Amino acid sequence: QIAVAITNTRLFDELKRQQLLLEARVADRTSELRKMTESLAEAVGQQEELLNQLERENRRDTLTLIANRRHLDEFLPREMERARRYGHPLTTAMLDIDHFKTVNHTLGNAMGDQVLCVLPNILITDLRTTDFAARYGGEEFVIVFPETIVGDAVSACDKLRTLIALHPWPRLARNLNVTVSFGVPPMAHPDQTMAQLLAGAARALYPAKRSARKRVCEGRLGAPD
Ligand code: GH3
Ligand code: MG
Ligand code: MG
Repeated sequence: QIAVAITNTRLFDELKRQQLLLEARVADRTSELRKMTESLAEAVGQQEELLNQLERENRRDTLTLIANRRHLDEFLPREMERARRYGHPLTTAMLDIDHFKTVNHTLGNAMGDQVLCVLPNILITDLRTTDFAARYGGEEFVIVFPETIVGDAVSACDKLRTLIALHPWPRLARNLNVTVSFGVPPMAHPDQTMAQLLAGAARALYPAKRSARKRVCEGRLGAPD
């Protein structure tokens, strides 16, 4: 009986030792797994941040750093739909730099690039935070004025036109002077597409470009899309 008792005690001790060893291993593995989960969560967070950054970069013009055409293609149809659905006004304007080719030819393309970079700052400083400005291409920019009737957008564009004309451009280059023209189409009709609206804005610019420029021109109602 004593021998059996001793054997049982030894077995029990051994079992206890094995159990403690197992518990220690489980604790080690649990802590390792926790660390791995934490670093995985961190990596996922970093990846999400990178994706967001990439998305932001994709919607930004690489030269001027304002919204690019891709961003406009997302923003404007959404605003048009919102305006149509709730019966709210929405006006879109196209800005075109006057005689920009001459700036490039007389002062060099690098100076032309600098002008393209300065101009959005003037726009953004004056526009409301709910307005939206994008580089449409070349020396053309599109401004979207949500909740704004054509007359008010024309006044806003005229103010921008004056601010741009009065900007101290000669600080960049002695003979530099920059003026712009705006085309403001009539309020979009409900089934108008973004392409039709922008074509209307470009068309509204024609009279300015046929005359001495430096003007804000309103498009005519009923002009072909
Ligand atoms: P208008 O008054 O009739 O608008 O004449 P303009 O010379 O401004 O217009 P035009 O369309 O004839 O020329 C636009 C010029 O813009 C031509 C092109 O070389 C220049 N341009 C377009 N993109 C860039 C750019 O990223 N950097 C520079 N420096 N120039 C550009
Ligand atoms: Mg142009
Ligand atoms: Mg131009």
